[in-house]
Amino acid sequence: SLRFASSTFKASDLTVERSKKTRPIPDPSSLVFGKQFSDHMLTIYWSETGGWEVPQIKPFQNLSLHPASSVLHYATELFEGMKAFRGVDNHIRLFRPMLNMQRMLRSAERSCLPAFDPGELLECIRELVEVDQEWVPYSADASLYIRPTFIGTEPALGLSKAAHALLFVIMSPVGPYFATGSFNPVSLLADPRFIRAWRGGVGEFKMGGNYGPTIALQEEAVNHGCQQVLWLYGEQEEITEAGTMNLFIFWTNKTGERELVTPPLDGIILPGVTRQSLLDLARDWGEFKVTERTLGMQELLGALDSGRILEVFGTGTACVVCPVSSLLYKGKMYRFPTMKNGPAKRFHKELTDMQYGRKTNEWAPLA
Ligand code: PMP
Repeated sequence: SLRFASSTFKASDLTVERSKKTRPIPDPSSLVFGKQFSDHMLTIYWSETGGWEVPQIKPFQNLSLHPASSVLHYATELFEGMKAFRGVDNHIRLFRPMLNMQRMLRSAERSCLPAFDPGELLECIRELVEVDQEWVPYSADASLYIRPTFIGTEPALGLSKAAHALLFVIMSPVGPYFATGSFNPVSLLADPRFIRAWRGGVGEFKMGGNYGPTIALQEEAVNHGCQQVLWLYGEQEEITEAGTMNLFIFWTNKTGERELVTPPLDGIILPGVTRQSLLDLARDWGEFKVTERTLGMQELLGALDSGRILEVFGTGTACVVCPVSSLLYKGKMYRFPTMKNGPAKRFHKELTDMQYGRKTNEWAPLA
């Protein structure tokens, strides 16, 4: 009876099969994002008839999938991205992990994949990190990237709700995002023909289907000498996100106030954990106005033209905060000031201080 529980799996049922061979742990300075994986993985199988099976931690290994599996044909897939950090006190911490678990649950619901107790998944992930704790880099600018994934494994081609599914978690040690140790500003290509998400669509969910189609456009940005795409939307050419980061603008608004602006969560924005954290911090500081609102390209360029733009930056788990130095739009290169006039650097320091245990905070609980 313990083998199957219908509504959720339980971390207390977890079984652990340890790897007989452990692989050498790479040096943090030599890491390439997402290429090397830790020794173990977590798998949890589900079926409509049997419910959730017990969660298993086992040696990292290939999956075996039926060639008709829904994930392979209809992209019934969703994922999360989070990190474990080794602090200056040698303790391992996560960062606001329940926000990832809750976002994952929302993505699952939208994908017609089964629900689970997000707290139980977090406990399973903590166990996995514990088993592979040596894979959390001994470095204050590297971390262990955690990739929870959920796929439909229905072995049939009918486009219908999957009656079989697999939730798994793999982990990859990652080096410093900014190789030089300091901020590397990025340049963006803004082309209104490139659309990442639309109202009524699924841009606010972390589904694989939102990401594969952006690769060609990312290539286009690189071909234009830019690093990432600035995603615009609609008649107003609304500024939405940059690459896989949320976007922030720090400016002097029309009424002369200093203001931090980011697009609202109105369906086309991925609700980033870092985004939420910046909003929470800035509101807590109370030093400038904080606004979630839509901003169009013309308004941004108008403000730039009148010298009111103080800083533009992206946020995400990968880089925490990433300054934007320039924007290529309709063949013209626009430049933004970076790191002199705005809070980007302070946000970065505040969050990394919590992640690496230089400052204790409930946002960065021990793993
Ligand atoms: N936007 C998109 C499209 C993303 O994929 C991500 C990465 N999850 C983000 C923003 C940043 O979110 P977070 O701060 O949770 O990493």
